[in-house]
Amino acid sequence: MPICKLCGGPAAYFIEHSKMMLCRECFIKYYERKVYNTVMKHGMLRGAGRVAIAVSGGKDSTALLTAMSKLAREKFPGIEVMAIHINLGIEGYSEKCQEIVERVCENLGVELVIHDLFSAEGYRIPDLRSTPLRRRICGACGTVKRYLMNRLAYELGADRLATGHNLDDVVELLFELYLRGSVEDLVRVKPISRSDNPKLVTKIKPLIELTERENLYYALAHEMPILDSSCPLVEGSRMLRRKRLIDLIEREITGFKHMLYKSHVKRILPRLEKSVAEPNLVECERCGMPSLASRCSYCKLISMLAARSAESSP
Ligand SMILES: [Zn+2]
Ligand SMILES: [Zn+2]
Repeated sequence: MPICKLCGGPAAYFIEHSKMMLCRECFIKYYERKVYNTVMKHGMLRGAGRVAIAVSGGKDSTALLTAMSKLAREKFPGIEVMAIHINLGIEGYSEKCQEIVERVCENLGVELVIHDLFSAEGYRIPDLRSTPLRRRICGACGTVKRYLMNRLAYELGADRLATGHNLDDVVELLFELYLRGSVEDLVRVKPISRSDNPKLVTKIKPLIELTERENLYYALAHEMPILDSSCPLVEGSRMLRRKRLIDLIEREITGFKHMLYKSHVKRILPRLEKSVAEPNLVECERCGMPSLASRCSYCKLISMLAARSAESSP
């Protein structure tokens, strides 16, 4: 039977990039130390009072909520952790996501705010299929989630918004952006995006140095319910194909993902930040939230949706 490298007990998990077998208890300690180190290294909770966690029902945000609520309880007793979930109105999928999020929050005793897209905003994500955005529905859904998560966190008085982005997500994104030379986008890929604008909540990614698999193990180690399906609207699999390719590289070059991420954050990002100008934000004419143009990308999307329903009604 495989044994834990740290305590010699029966091992449960294999950490690929460090070729290490760990038992459940040692894995939990290892994982939580990594989250703590990431949080401290980047001052993610410095001066924080209320941290909103974006939860979807997937393994990453479940692991994030579990780890952050424990971290706050054990090391930052002054910090309040709460969860925000957006019900996207995707039939046969969103109900399951919401149910899991409710169970996880109940298990952890964390306050949960659910924002139901249809009852609160009057539309569902599948409605976007009637707009010119139908071919990029995942991108449009991303715009909706980013905008609403920030607005909700701001309205709920949170001073941090934490998301479950993991190392695999970030490396896949870096791979794509470096390939395209998208300097303006690369400069925004970072563990913490601080903001002085009161309507723009500071974003943190405490799991940025943990892999997808480590998050899955952590959620399993806590016997949290996990969503067993993926979004039925996901189109193509370019992102998944790139992730598989990166896994192949990792198999040949152990530590590739960590190396690419660390080089970006330590070596390249500081230089990019010096040479790429901060975007000039104005107030969106429709919603009053910070925006790059006179109308923010969320309000543009909403006007498209409104134009379509006006056309289709008699
Ligand atoms: Zn052990
Ligand atoms: Zn707007």
